[in-house]
Amino acid sequence: MSDNCLFCRIARGEIPSRKVYEDDDMFAFHDINPVAPVHFMLIPKHHLVSLVEVDDSHAALLGKMLTLAPKLAREQGLENGFRMVINSGKGGGQEVFHLHIHIIGGGNIPPMVKRS
Ligand code: 5GP
Ligand code: ZN
Repeated sequence: MSDNCLFCRIARGEIPSRKVYEDDDMFAFHDINPVAPVHFMLIPKHHLVSLVEVDDSHAALLGKMLTLAPKLAREQGLENGFRMVINSGKGGGQEVFHLHIHIIGGGNIPPMVKRS
C-alpha cells in the first residue's frame, strides 16, 4: 500500500472507478481514457512500481495476473483475442507508477509498432 499512489487509492475505493473485477489480491477497472472499445487495467492490490522492480519473489503474483487477464478479457466480450500492454518504467512510457496490465480489444487493433 502506498498512501499517495493513484492506483492504490483506486483499489481501496478512495477514488471512484468502473470496476471490472476484484478479489483479495487483484483489482481490475476500466481505463479513464480508453484507446479501444474495451480497455481495462488489471493491477495487484499490493503496491509494486513496475516490472523494472520485479524479482523472483513476485513470480506467483505475476502468474496470477497473466492467467486472470484472459478470463476477464473473455468476460468483457473479447472472445477473439486482445492486446496486453505493460509499460514498464520511464523508458517504457509508464505514467502511473503502480504495475498494471492494459487489456485492450474490441476494435481494429493495428500492429503494435509502426514501421515507416
Ligand atoms: P501507463 O501509461 O502508466 O501505462 O497507463 C496509465 C493509464 O492510466 C492511462 O491509460 C490512463 O488513461 C489511465 N488513468 C490515469 N488516471 C486514471 C484514473 O484516475 N482513473 C482511471 N480509470 N484510469 C486512469
Ligand atoms: Zn500503488
